[in-house]
Amino acid sequence: MTQRITVLGATGSIGDSTLSILETAQASSTEFEVYALSGHRQLDKLLDLCQKFAPKRVAVPTEAVATFAQRLKAANLSVDVVGGESGLIELAEDPQVDTVVAAIVGAAGLPSTLAAAKAGKRILLANKEALVMAGHLMMQAVRDNHATLLPIDSEHNAIFQCLPEPIQQDNTKIHQSEYGVRKLWLTASGGPFLHKTYADMAAANIAEAVKHPNWSMGQKISIDSATMMNKGLELIEAAHLFDLPEAKIEVVIHPQSIIHSLVEYSDGSLLAQLGSPDMKTPIAHALAYPKRIDSGVVPLDLFALADLEFIRPDLNKFACLRLARDAMQSGMVATIGLNAANEVAVKAFIDEQVKLTDIALINEQTLDTMAQQALQAPSHIDEVIAIDQRARSIAKQIVAKRYC
Ligand code: NAD
Ligand code: MG
Repeated sequence: MTQRITVLGATGSIGDSTLSILETAQASSTEFEVYALSGHRQLDKLLDLCQKFAPKRVAVPTEAVATFAQRLKAANLSVDVVGGESGLIELAEDPQVDTVVAAIVGAAGLPSTLAAAKAGKRILLANKEALVMAGHLMMQAVRDNHATLLPIDSEHNAIFQCLPEPIQQDNTKIHQSEYGVRKLWLTASGGPFLHKTYADMAAANIAEAVKHPNWSMGQKISIDSATMMNKGLELIEAAHLFDLPEAKIEVVIHPQSIIHSLVEYSDGSLLAQLGSPDMKTPIAHALAYPKRIDSGVVPLDLFALADLEFIRPDLNKFACLRLARDAMQSGMVATIGLNAANEVAVKAFIDEQVKLTDIALINEQTLDTMAQQALQAPSHIDEVIAIDQRARSIAKQIVAKRYC
């Protein structure tokens, strides 16, 4: 049967990798059909993708709907155009769709990802922010609506692959002693400043911050990798995905990015997933799960591998990682606050208002201010978004007061 797929965030880095696999797969089989796409800023690229994949529906920002519809018509393409957040939600819950690839960056990806869960879709999750902000609501929606959540973040996909099938089907089984899961090991590359000093980090410009040693990714996640906030977000993501307290998830720096993460079992086994650092592998795994398809990734040559290193992260230099652990312990208000503050701080760094090392300071001050307000944990997405907005305004005030 053909799997009809919606790619939300089709013009980004994950979108590129996903569509490249689908292009190859479509050439040889009818297993996958690209049903809908979304783009935000790069609308020329989105138009090219519409020409290439002929989707039935497309989502663009509200103000771009009319012009984009005209451009499609001029290109002789018959595509239904929807706009804004409600358009993304419409695509995510479209009854024709089997699979939603959630690849929008940041908090903007939450409403459509949650809508896909509520509509019982098979979700290929790249947008980690949805779990960081609303993990409890997301996981509940997945359970209540029999949705399938397949992680494509490489570390989480690796862990998923190393877990026994019953736990893959029902994450709460991870607590059953017969499966013997003792802890999870999340690997981190350490980013471009692993072997540099804090002063080097403080002096870094954008080009230096986004220059990731192993992975090619979007701008925001690349900066998050430089501060190791990305690993902090992934720690929270893993806790929700695999139903474990953060204390059972260890972060280890593995600069070669060959082992993508591990599961430790009670008998002393450590199961790992290895591969070239290319997002096409986890994406192909999730697209075809439980089958396997060709991802186009060059296989690892074990003979060519030199040393594999494992290093304990320095939580003073990479304070964002410590903040994420604390936030996970403290609860949803803190994880929403941390994600929102970080988005504001990363933007301020891109706009050259603050230094790379200020990101952790802005995040921490925002969380301290929010802790004084004793906010209630949200039980609905509107409350999640209200807390997110509050955190953003606190973080913006901190940026304005201290750095402008
Ligand atoms: P990117 O910046 O390359 O692409 C982001 C996509 O989101 C684009 O299609 C853009 O049009 C869309 N978008 C941005 N703002 C939007 C908004 N306000 N409304 C609607 N759409 C919007 O980002 P990316 O690197 O592809 O990352 C996407 C997600 O996947 C992130 O959550 C990231 O953390 C996660 N992820 C990425 C990688 C990677 O290798 N790139 C790896 C693991 C996880
Ligand atoms: Mg990752």
